[in-house]
Amino acid sequence: MRKNNIINKLSKEEIHVINLMKNKLNELGVRGYIVGGAVRDILLDKEIKDIDICITCNPMCIINQLKEVKSFKYYKKFETSTIIFNNGIEIDLIRCRKESYSYPGVLPEVIPSSIEDDLYRRDFTINSIAYNIIGNEIIDRHNGTNDLELKKIAKVHDNSYTEDPTRIFRAVKYSVRYNFGLEDIDEIKDNLQNGVLKFISNDRIMREIILLCEEEKWIRNILLCKKLGIFNINKELLGKQNDLCNYSDINHRIINLFLSLRDREDRNIFTDNSVLNRKLKEALVKYNIEIEKVSHFTCKTIDNFIIYDVLKNLNEYELILYSFDYKNKYKIYNYLNNLKNIKLKIRGNEIKELGINEGKKIGNILKYLLKIKMNTMIANEENLLKRNLGEILNGVEHKN
Ligand code: ATP
Ligand code: MG
Repeated sequence: MRKNNIINKLSKEEIHVINLMKNKLNELGVRGYIVGGAVRDILLDKEIKDIDICITCNPMCIINQLKEVKSFKYYKKFETSTIIFNNGIEIDLIRCRKESYSYPGVLPEVIPSSIEDDLYRRDFTINSIAYNIIGNEIIDRHNGTNDLELKKIAKVHDNSYTEDPTRIFRAVKYSVRYNFGLEDIDEIKDNLQNGVLKFISNDRIMREIILLCEEEKWIRNILLCKKLGIFNINKELLGKQNDLCNYSDINHRIINLFLSLRDREDRNIFTDNSVLNRKLKEALVKYNIEIEKVSHFTCKTIDNFIIYDVLKNLNEYELILYSFDYKNKYKIYNYLNNLKNIKLKIRGNEIKELGINEGKKIGNILKYLLKIKMNTMIANEENLLKRNLGEILNGVEHKN
């Protein structure tokens, strides 16, 4: 591990931005540190995702004087900011802080403080390594570099998982991503058994689940969650091949995970949150309510029109949900590949020309023709209508 060579691992553009920051920090006599994921991933010789920098003053003092800033966002309450530079590099710039939790699971109170306090508030030792931009040195109060070598995920401070139970999901993520051991596995299991996740909102849980699903090894993340006692999972279904499901789409992974959950309580997290894509959430909610009804239709019938009539009301996500049941699968393929594209050539006007004026009756005739077309696959319904007008009218009237 090249402990002092952190900067050299960055791109030319990133180094340029760090140098801009360094000059300004020097000028103002403020300390600044690269922290968290960037330092961890550089030490692991991996690509970095984003750069977080902690400074010992309010970010606006720096941003106001920095050159080459294209745009920025500043959040006064937490003294955090995101800056985009002219060369496209994005930096999260925050003030060093100390956190205190009044109750388990609540969001912390934040007080400006030193880098040492800032590293102490972090989740894992491997995420609590800082690089002093001006002094060119690593600050590693919690032996994070050692844990990187030992390949372990370990909390920084006591009560870490009760203070903020989302750290349990984060532990899963890093353990699977880097193939590291979970030092706190027993403590995590105990906390889960004591219901620690009840202290946080569905939104916060869902956000963590999405992050787990975004990882390349998402299935292993979920299996580790199962092992820890977070979810009760049907392993047969998890990641199951399905022609309608494209697992490079995160929403499709979420659908598959939702179906793999055995407990209603777990599924409720997916249906009762404000985080998931609206259309996807609607699909999950509707699926929970209508599964019986839809399964009944699609299982019992081989009538193409009925299949069409039920499935046409479902959005793309609902179709994927139902297609995991082999009894529906081929009906859904039939719907998507054939039935959905069948359109009547004949228009209402042409029926009118045959002397039928009542709008509702015309609508019913069109529906009747579509039904026949779908079930017989006839190409030209116009002839059919003309030749069998009496019978069709009878059928339509009889039905009403
Ligand atoms: P990733 O590669 O997954 O983005 P990261 O380390 O950059 O990893 P972020 O979620 O972007 O992770 O958070 C940045 C840093 O903030 C972390 O490295 C960690 O030090 C700290 N952090 C984030 N979430 C928490 C938390 N819930 N509790 C304590 N510290 C946290
Ligand atoms: Mg990050």
